[in-house]
Amino acid sequence: MRFDIITIFPEMFGNVFSVGVLKKALDRNLIEVKVHNLRDFASDKHKQVDDRPFGGKPGMVLKPEPIFSAVENIRENEATPVYLLSPQGRTFNSSFAEELASHRQIVFICGRYEGVDERVVEYLVTDEISIGDYVLTGGEPAAVVLIDAVSRFIPEVVGKTESVRSDSFIESVLAFPQYTRPRDFRGKKVPDVLFSGDHKKIEDWRKKKSLEKTRLKRPDLLDQKTK
Ligand code: SAM
Repeated sequence: MRFDIITIFPEMFGNVFSVGVLKKALDRNLIEVKVHNLRDFASDKHKQVDDRPFGGKPGMVLKPEPIFSAVENIRENEATPVYLLSPQGRTFNSSFAEELASHRQIVFICGRYEGVDERVVEYLVTDEISIGDYVLTGGEPAAVVLIDAVSRFIPEVVGKTESVRSDSFIESVLAFPQYTRPRDFRGKKVPDVLFSGDHKKIEDWRKKKSLEKTRLKRPDLLDQKTK
């Protein structure tokens, strides 16, 4: 799977994919990430990518021509979805990440300043994606979040598929609690059931804890589950 990022600040992606699970996925060619400088697609000699908004408000807006040109050059074919990172978009979540993982290529456009010319939204992109109800200074951190979360659903990226399947939000519940050595830390003990050797009992305990945690921290997820 290939991710293409269009940005005016390619340097922001410096080392972000060069550690951990994503680095391994890149090394094994399970994913590919290409960062494109929007300025390379500006046609004028000053490589201008932004301009003042019509109507006289302060700030700058990313111009449509370089963005259209970038997408037309980068997209392998019409089936490739193109997403604008935007606080006005569909809110990203785990099932959306899983849905995106089925594509061969995805193009992300990172906005900046006051955002992008509205014709990009109306005539170019497949959809807008938001990573939450707050405003970032640019779409780049959102692109990193998306690539990280989507990659986890690509087969073989995470060591054992089972570990993705037992993560939070799968089947609308939070993950069960995990413990490691020492068994007794400052008098705080790991639950005995985990040493019982009875896999069925451990599995039942994990399910129970997972539901308890969800009920306590995210009851809204359980409401969604029953809908
Ligand atoms: N004026 C815009 C608005 O209020 O809708 C906000 C522009 S914001 C300062 C600049 C860029 O950051 C946006 O074009 C978008 O690409 C990105 N951005 C900001 N918040 C975001 C969010 N919650 N999710 C995804 N991208 C976001």
